[in-house]
Amino acid sequence: MAKAQALSNGQSLAGRKLYIPQMAYAGGRVIAAAFRSIGIDATITPDSDPETLVLGGLHASGEECLPHKITLGDFLKVCRQPDFDPAKTAFFMASSNGPCRFGQYAVYLKKELRKLGYGDVMIFSPSADDSYDGIREHAGELMRTMWMGVTCGDLVTKFLYKTRPYEINPGQSEAVYRQCVHDFEAVLERQDISVGKRFCELIGLVEQMRDRFRAIPANYVKGRPLIGIIGEIFCRLNDFANQNTLNTIERLGGECWMSEFSEWVWYSNWGQGRQIINDHGRFSLAYLLFKIKAGFQRRYSEGLRAPLVNDLKGYEEAHDITEVLEAARPYLPPEGCLGEMVLSAGQSIFMQKHGADGVIDISPFTCMNGTIAEAVYPAISEDHAGMPIRICYFDGVNASVDRDIEIFLDLAKSYQARKPHPRVYPDYFQ
Ligand code: SF4
Repeated sequence: MAKAQALSNGQSLAGRKLYIPQMAYAGGRVIAAAFRSIGIDATITPDSDPETLVLGGLHASGEECLPHKITLGDFLKVCRQPDFDPAKTAFFMASSNGPCRFGQYAVYLKKELRKLGYGDVMIFSPSADDSYDGIREHAGELMRTMWMGVTCGDLVTKFLYKTRPYEINPGQSEAVYRQCVHDFEAVLERQDISVGKRFCELIGLVEQMRDRFRAIPANYVKGRPLIGIIGEIFCRLNDFANQNTLNTIERLGGECWMSEFSEWVWYSNWGQGRQIINDHGRFSLAYLLFKIKAGFQRRYSEGLRAPLVNDLKGYEEAHDITEVLEAARPYLPPEGCLGEMVLSAGQSIFMQKHGADGVIDISPFTCMNGTIAEAVYPAISEDHAGMPIRICYFDGVNASVDRDIEIFLDLAKSYQARKPHPRVYPDYFQ
């Protein structure tokens, strides 16, 4: 309670319910739980459904990308709930100064809500230059809890994708996944423990998660094409936005290895570090504080991953994001091409070198990052033994991707037979 009261300065979240968009099933939940740990009444937006697109479409100008339409639609569904009170509601909408439309979405959302008479709804946009004094007071603690949550979310999602294609009883991996996310939330939201104790408890839950997934009856037979999943972060992580494409890939015989959400955080750190060196120099207090923050992130990430080394054999992420950025350099120099395009280019090469049989970029229709990345994929494929790479665009129109995926998996199988970098399998494969 003391923490919640401390949020009453400036633009306060006290007395408001904060809604977090469900970018991913795990991601939205762990972030909401992290906010609850500092006394904020946070929850996720309702599940997306056809009403989401109707409402989002009605109140969008038509020039926005699909993620905006979906988040807007889900926020408007909150506004239709019987107990909705604008003065007691806040919507979380991240923002950025990057080159694409994303930076405009918080502004647009505010404008639309005002037009609809919901001007009292607070838009909580962490990177905006507002005075969220109460949050600032708890910023360090919140960021650490959130980062641990994001890492746990990435890990449980990875386990889902590496188990589900092989499960004997359909639905079992998904059930274990949901139970694990629920358990992570329960530790992340606690207000009565220190950061260190939370970290230890989460390590215990990660071990429990590993054992639960190991216990799922499964047929681990080698040979399924391993398909790297890259692209725009919302669209690749959000099953509703990508029409369950990962399920489709599995149903048609593939296995998915998706770029983690954390990748974006490491990339943002890389950009922030360069900016600080540029503005203040390498021997500045600002850079020292930045390095301390990055050190904590590294420590939590490695600590939570440590119990999983054997299970994640062959699914490792780049140890340092510069490995991905350097791979992209001949096609999209990271200092000049900002955003997911450079990550998509670099990850496709990283995945090829670590045994992937093909890469699919999942992006919203007209996504600026997707469009630019698409332009360099033919050259990347040609320079990397002809590994198939294709982009799938989504715009909320329900169209079957089965045929495209079937053809792609055929290409992946033919590449599998001649690929120069064999896949490394965890020990439990036959
Ligand atoms: S990354 Fe693509 S989809 Fe996302 S806001 Fe930017 S242009 Fe739109």
